Amino acid sequence: MKPEIIVTGRLLPRTQEALDRIFTCHKLYEAADHLAFLRQHAQQVRALATFGASGADAALMDQLPKLEIISNFGVGVDAIDLAAAAKRRIIVTNTPEVLTECVADTAMALVLATLRRLPQSENYLRAGQWGTRGAYPLTTSLGGKTLGVLGLGRIGEAIAKRAEAFGMKLRYHNRSRKNLAWPYEPDVVSLAKNSDVLLVAAPGGPQTQRIVNAAVLDALGPQGFVVNIARGSLIDEPALLRYLREGRIAGAGLDVFDNEPKIDPAWFSLDNAVLLPHVGSATEETRTAMGALQVENLQLHFAGKPVKTPVT
Ligand code: NAP
Repeated sequence: MKPEIIVTGRLLPRTQEALDRIFTCHKLYEAADHLAFLRQHAQQVRALATFGASGADAALMDQLPKLEIISNFGVGVDAIDLAAAAKRRIIVTNTPEVLTECVADTAMALVLATLRRLPQSENYLRAGQWGTRGAYPLTTSLGGKTLGVLGLGRIGEAIAKRAEAFGMKLRYHNRSRKNLAWPYEPDVVSLAKNSDVLLVAAPGGPQTQRIVNAAVLDALGPQGFVVNIARGSLIDEPALLRYLREGRIAGAGLDVFDNEPKIDPAWFSLDNAVLLPHVGSATEETRTAMGALQVENLQLHFAGKPVKTPVT
């Protein structure tokens, strides 16, 4: 008999097909009545396959007394209640490494697009303004600027390497200093003060909630830029909107927001922000690799073996 699992959010077709070959899958996202659905499957379900924002809170876990493992598609597990999982010794896995380079590419593209105003200048051309109003206004160079990385982990370090190749200087802040040549800043305000571009790459969750607040934006100043590739929750979004509108920082490049995908419409009219719909890891190659790792973790667990990428 195949083990029974619940899939909380829509997965890539090929990932879902792989799961269907090994497990009996129940799709929570297709159920009209979630409570009735959970009651129906509660006594059989031993695993959850989750997708980023459609994580697993304590209430969901409480409905599933036989739950052994939560296998997440994505490295960020801020939508999973890790404390509730730990209390019941439920294993949690994620998909680190396989997405690092791809997300770093997106981050670097956002830095370039934000400082050089590439989407805005394309819009200028498409609106026919090049021919009528002349050359597009000058923008800001990357070379010689300082990129301050908040969260120099796997993705942060991959971004830092790319930024160096673009001639940028680096600084970083983590809770713990790393044995690296790049200068360490003891807090986020000093990182912002000493950076031209603040690149946010730390995990979401209660510890980093609104870590980029008005004081940090003040330290960054009117010539400074913010680029967020991590989670919307790390930035005080109303403050960022206000600072951008008032020209108190120069610009922002954002892949992540509060209330995705129904983000605040105030973003749509801001000319000094470059906005992406959470596409950091969104390539065929990377999403396929993430799906394969999600499935592999489940497979290993049900074969009685240690999972490959546990969240510790
Ligand atoms: P990682 O290797 O765990 O790196 C996270 C870094 O953040 C670590 O260096 C950590 O250092 C630092 N950090 C953690 N808590 C902090 C705090 N309170 N203050 C300051 N620094 C802190 O994770 P990763 O693989 O690089 O992924 C990072 C995040 O990127 C994920 O959690 C996810 O939310 C996001 N992400 C976004 C996308 C996208 O599509 N936009 C895709 C993938 C990932 P210390 O422990 O020393 O503090």
